[in-house]
Amino acid sequence: MSEAFDLIVIGAGSGGVRAARLAATYGARVAIVEEYRVGGTCVIRGCVPKKLFVYASRFSDMFESAGSFGWTVDAKFDWPTLVANKDKEIARLEAAYVAALEKPGVGVIRDRAILTGRNRVELVKSGRVLEAKTILLATGGHPYIPDVPGKELGITSNEAFHLEKLPHSILIEGGGYVAVEFATVFAGLGVDTTIVYRGDCVLRGFDADLRQGVSVGLQERGIRLIYETNVRGLRKSGDDIVVSFGDEVDAPFGAVMFATGRNANVSGYGLDVAGVELTSGGHIAVDEYSRTSNPSIYAVGDVTGRSQLTPVAIREGAAFAETAFNNNPVAVDHSMIGTAVFSEPEVASIGLTEAEATTHGDIDVYLTRFRPMINTLSTKSERMMLKLVTLANGGRVLGCHILGPSAAEMIQLVAIPIGMGATKADFDRAMAMHPTAGEELVTFRAPTYTYRSGRKQI
Ligand code: FAD
Repeated sequence: MSEAFDLIVIGAGSGGVRAARLAATYGARVAIVEEYRVGGTCVIRGCVPKKLFVYASRFSDMFESAGSFGWTVDAKFDWPTLVANKDKEIARLEAAYVAALEKPGVGVIRDRAILTGRNRVELVKSGRVLEAKTILLATGGHPYIPDVPGKELGITSNEAFHLEKLPHSILIEGGGYVAVEFATVFAGLGVDTTIVYRGDCVLRGFDADLRQGVSVGLQERGIRLIYETNVRGLRKSGDDIVVSFGDEVDAPFGAVMFATGRNANVSGYGLDVAGVELTSGGHIAVDEYSRTSNPSIYAVGDVTGRSQLTPVAIREGAAFAETAFNNNPVAVDHSMIGTAVFSEPEVASIGLTEAEATTHGDIDVYLTRFRPMINTLSTKSERMMLKLVTLANGGRVLGCHILGPSAAEMIQLVAIPIGMGATKADFDRAMAMHPTAGEELVTFRAPTYTYRSGRKQI
């Protein structure tokens, strides 16, 4: 016999949890099915443990500067302590997520869900059959591993959170934010770290000055960057893994991590049976209200491939609940989404890059590079960078790009005026706060350079 619900959510990650909670508060009878751990990628093996590792790795930079501020530090690092404390915090968060679901009455089911009809779900372990007028797919994604010989010897970000010990060296393949962040983490914790990337610079899609700045900053921290090269194969040699890069170039590493992108979880749970169609890129196709090709099934978050970030999945989950259970259709605006990379140096961005903005008419670029104050007493020469891209002659701010300490925190806040359509004059009206790095954003006097009719003018 089947059990009836108003809503079945498959996947208790960022998007699914928000949708389930909100729908339940609107009076819906909701079940959420999760096959691994409640919290999903972000809480269990993404944003949260990653940021905790980033904090751990940043102590090495601080210790390096400490002497200039009068401190003597005799620091030692213990990896098992970090992993155990991180696991404790993740367990606490998971319990909090379960409690937050159960409070408004969501039924939390730990099982794998398979769609067996347009409104029907079967649970693999228990064999239970659930039915609902509305189903939400919030199944997320998984790391993509290139199909090279010996690929099983490598790890992904999933395993990196649970290594028993730190390797003496690591090769990370990839040029995206996961590659760059984990390179920072491993290098900061004393691991000899190399990035290999098929492109010509890390962080494709970010503003060129940020990409260049990160490249330099990573190398200053001893991270080796090998561009325009792929891993062709892996083989074991003693305790090491020998990586073949082609052209008869082989090198041994203590570990190899693939950070070569993520694929949507779209197979093995009956999308075809339920009449749910995919995009050409392998994501679930949805309309602006997150409705799939089956009108009673919706999808949110990474599985839809719109923007693979936690706050976006949460916003899409909330918009779905408003639309389907509060008679208030809400479409999420994906046009102005800030992103951060928690590397060293940190990077954050919102809006158009300089190159993108040049295709939007005449623009002005305000750019500053300077040593952050904390570096002035130390021997560190690293500079931070702040860039504003505006329409010409004090027009609307189109983009803001920051490299350096607290970049993400600053971009989070400038996202508000930029989203409201602020102009350069609006930024100028704000009184500076001194001494901060962010004050540079409101004290730019003249453009550093401009583009007129697409041509750069200095
Ligand atoms: P997920 O959180 O992935 O949840 C999907 C859930 O569905 C999973 O728990 C899975 O087990 C479950 N599931 C799948 N199929 C089934 C099934 N058939 N039955 C039952 N359960 C199923 N984003 C940021 O905004 N900031 C960051 O700093 C950041 N850092 C990241 C670092 C890493 C290493 C990674 C991998 C990701 C990071 N992200 C970050 C991205 C962020 O984690 C995702 O965008 C977000 O988790 C997507 O949420 P979701 O609800 O779509 O899917």
